[in-house]
Amino acid sequence: MSLGRTISACVLLWTMGACGTGAEAVSVEHGSRFDRESGQLAVDTEQGVDEVLRKLRRVRYRDLPQPYVERTEQNMAPFKKRLARRRYLEVRGTQRLMFIAGRFRIDDFLAHDEVWRRHNATYDQSEPQFLLLDPKLPRTIVRLQNALRRRELDAEAFDVREAFRPPRLNREDGGASRSRHIYGEAVDLVIGDINRDGTADAADKAIVLDLLEHKLVRNRGGIGRYPGSQTIHFDFRGRRARWDSY
Ligand SMILES: [Zn+2]
Repeated sequence: MSLGRTISACVLLWTMGACGTGAEAVSVEHGSRFDRESGQLAVDTEQGVDEVLRKLRRVRYRDLPQPYVERTEQNMAPFKKRLARRRYLEVRGTQRLMFIAGRFRIDDFLAHDEVWRRHNATYDQSEPQFLLLDPKLPRTIVRLQNALRRRELDAEAFDVREAFRPPRLNREDGGASRSRHIYGEAVDLVIGDINRDGTADAADKAIVLDLLEHKLVRNRGGIGRYPGSQTIHFDFRGRRARWDSY
């Protein structure tokens, strides 16, 4: 994420009253140093997404560290049954800085909880973070950006606000009790000035919603439209769902 993008996203979030500690992304210094040293390029194909995901170790639910499972409440009914079948991605140290979709990083999809905040200062290698991420989410973001580019719109004028939320974080954030975020199947975007007319408003959001509705999500998942805000939720729950209020 460039400095400009980080700031504009923060202004957007702040105007919505949401730019708390949880909304702070990777430090610009850490990010740009990693980009320079790794020479990583924006991920602009679906195959590129899959290549990045293959770099991360996959961990079964039963192999997750027990204190982590308890702290995040992933052991609680009714979540445990569904989560027990999932494979988690293990994210260590600077792996969180890898681009996964465009210039969005693994970091943008991690649960923004206390471990994540602790790592913000240290990028500690010893304590991994765990991520549930339906690959359809980053693949769809890549497709969205490519569709915007083809229409000569600003493909970078949006941010990933939240993706994976383990049960405890979901509860603390006031998410729906059966939110798809719990299973790493949902993402919230904040839409900026897609049409480059100088303001981030409903017209920009309508462009993205239209692409999600007719091209990217269709009947395969849910779309939260939240009129009056710049936020959009989408998920791949395997069936159609649409709603307007939080
Ligand atoms: Zn959401």
